[in-house]
Amino acid sequence: MTAHTAGKRRTLAAVPGGRAILPVTEITGTAPGPRALITAGIHGGEYPGMAASMELAAALAPEDIAGTLTIIHAANPCAFWARRPELNEEDGKNLNREFPGDPRGTSTERLAHLLMDRFIRRADFYIDCHSGDIHEDLCPHVYYSKACAESVSRASRDMALAADVPYMVPSIAQGGAYNCGAAAGVPSILIEHGGNGLCTEDDVAAFRRDLVRILRRTGVLIGGRFPAEPMKETPREVKKVLYVMAEEDSCWRTALRQGDPVKKGDILGRTTNLFGDERRTYRAEEDGVLLYINTSFALLKGKVAAAYVVI
Ligand SMILES: [Zn+2]
Repeated sequence: MTAHTAGKRRTLAAVPGGRAILPVTEITGTAPGPRALITAGIHGGEYPGMAASMELAAALAPEDIAGTLTIIHAANPCAFWARRPELNEEDGKNLNREFPGDPRGTSTERLAHLLMDRFIRRADFYIDCHSGDIHEDLCPHVYYSKACAESVSRASRDMALAADVPYMVPSIAQGGAYNCGAAAGVPSILIEHGGNGLCTEDDVAAFRRDLVRILRRTGVLIGGRFPAEPMKETPREVKKVLYVMAEEDSCWRTALRQGDPVKKGDILGRTTNLFGDERRTYRAEEDGVLLYINTSFALLKGKVAAAYVVI
């Protein structure tokens, strides 16, 4: 570690051999403390977390920080500028399926490796900001990893409990940034607010409040300038998430929105071919609440049509 010099620095981190250059703000506090990391924009079409990360970096001063806060405002800039949902246009890969990455791999694999090696692994706490994608209507929620040491999972869950969202999802997934962070011993969570390619003031503010609250809980944010705002709700831990996958390319119609309750047997959506002939009816297999739902008329085979939580 370098000597502790308080200050706010902006750097650009280039992915070797690729076009991606990541904007990074690092705030070294006037007091010693842990190293916290925030990333946003791992999916290039998920905007509110990116905007909130910029606001936070502009507002915070070294006097507000104990330790170091590193914020990556656009973790997948080529995907951002391409305005593409989910995928990095350089190689067509989903960055959040490629961790821990490979320094000799494709652009996205090298990007994942850079994020993992240079930032996530070196952090003591990690918060990753996502939203529903450009084609997704999403209910705010937070994930923490269970595929890691129990002490790391417990610390991650404690961070997740400071997110002001209705649902908390324990995850055994692998390959995501926060999953790999937790597997490497770094308490890590993923927060979701907003979606549909929007960057509303409400969603940006929701992220800002959650980030402040979690940074305070982990001891990185200190002093009186940014108090934790009270929570409207405590996230409920869900039993499981059920994903309804599209069985073929088709045209999708639904009457449902995120947060709607669904009963076993309820219609989630119907599909047709491009002549409008009826193809399939997708139904809920259990009682639950819609976590996110496809809003694009074009539904692609193998992609999520709807996801709902069982509580
Ligand atoms: Zn995402």
